[in-house]
Amino acid sequence: MAKTIFEIQSEGRRGYTLPKNDVTTENHIPKKFQRAEEIKLPQVSELDVMRHFMKLSQMNHCIEKGFYPLGSCTMKYNPKLNETLVRNTAFNNLHPFQSESTTQGALEVMYELQKDLAEISGFAGVTLQPVAGAHGEFTGLKVMKAYHNSKGHSNKRKIILPDSAHGTNPASVVLAGFEVVEIKSNDKGLVDVEDLRSHVDENTAGFMLTNPNTLGLFETQVEEIAEIIHSVDGLMYMDGANFNAILGIVKPGKIGFDIMHYNLHKTFATPHGGGGPGSGPIGVREDLVRFLPAPIIAKKDNKYFIDNSHEITSLGKVHPFFGNFAVNLRAYIYIKMLGAEGLIRVSKNAVINANYMQKKLEKYYSIPYKDQYCMHEFVASGEWQKEKYGIKTLDIAKRILDKGYHAPTIYFPLIVSEAMMIEPTETESMETLDDFISAMIEIAKECEENPDLLKNAPLNTPVKRVDDTLAVRQLNVKFEW
Ligand SMILES: *Cc1c(COP(=O)(O)O)cnc(C)c1O
Repeated sequence: MAKTIFEIQSEGRRGYTLPKNDVTTENHIPKKFQRAEEIKLPQVSELDVMRHFMKLSQMNHCIEKGFYPLGSCTMKYNPKLNETLVRNTAFNNLHPFQSESTTQGALEVMYELQKDLAEISGFAGVTLQPVAGAHGEFTGLKVMKAYHNSKGHSNKRKIILPDSAHGTNPASVVLAGFEVVEIKSNDKGLVDVEDLRSHVDENTAGFMLTNPNTLGLFETQVEEIAEIIHSVDGLMYMDGANFNAILGIVKPGKIGFDIMHYNLHKTFATPHGGGGPGSGPIGVREDLVRFLPAPIIAKKDNKYFIDNSHEITSLGKVHPFFGNFAVNLRAYIYIKMLGAEGLIRVSKNAVINANYMQKKLEKYYSIPYKDQYCMHEFVASGEWQKEKYGIKTLDIAKRILDKGYHAPTIYFPLIVSEAMMIEPTETESMETLDDFISAMIEIAKECEENPDLLKNAPLNTPVKRVDDTLAVRQLNVKFEW
């Protein structure tokens, strides 16, 4: 472990010189608020501070440091040009209360992005307000609620979702005031349509589906499912977090979905992690546009304006102003830079990379669902290693850290035992994929030849194997000095 800043300090060392304090606090600040004794700050030089924080930054993994195959999260490389443009003062000095005449450029960005997202997904209208995927889900479900309320269907309280769903789906359902009905996946890893049919009735408000699903498989029965759901006037919701697999190839709005959210921070190039910032716009079919959060950005006579005309039917606001403008701007730049052809290439590369890796690893790790090609990610399982050598997927994931990579998502989706969800993303070269494949094959051999190595891994990282159980029982996050 690197030393803390408190441990490297030395009495009297300074990293600054300030003019002598000539303000007396005595007469202005009541006694009880005045500091009784000197604050104990670490005493360090500027160089100490620089080295300390540089060292800390290198202890963490990031995409600029190495491959990051964290399934479902799409940890791809995001062009730095986006970052430079977003930091332009023409954008970041804007204020949301500025008049329309002085913000035409920013309004154009939002208008164009709404339009592009609608075009890419086949929907009629888009709101940019939600600021995360889960927030998009919540907003989409509120649209469903507004739709059913407008028809006086107060009985429609049930949202059906498959057992492969991301954890945010059931959470959003509950937050939006619905009830969760979970159905099974079939032995191919897709929605079990018969099980679905048996759960659909007049109380069904809608169905939520991730496509491609969290097993990395394309759900081929969407049209049949949509027919079943629409027959009881339910709505079809698509979790679009995995959209980077089908950009420009499948338009969800044209195959039976009525509402969908986009994870701009996964699909459209925004660095993410650590809880944000993100953006989770939603797209909806024509008759649902009036329920979207107001305002929408519109255009008339070659001028862009903030359109509140559907305010009465709108479900209300889900975020101040226009959502996460800087993230939306990155997505706009990304889409305009790639164009239609480029977006299709993104998806093709994402899918080819995942299939290449799955094929190369299938002799070494169990791949439970491989009746069809995977899309942008695949789910392997450590069940062979567990059965033969008592090695858990957790051990394998820890050993991957030793090889200089971020681990894949593990133990999700829940329907695969010892799951390892691997998403190479479209931005990685064949050499990087090959290096990772070699590392995974090496690990499979280590399971056989040196299982203790895995059980004690990681051995090369700044933080070694932590005792999760002890950490929960004796939580200690305070450094005493
Ligand atoms: C990431 C993800 C979400 C949630 O998105 P957030 O932006 O993290 O809230 C929902 N569904 C799936 C399938 C995801 O991968």
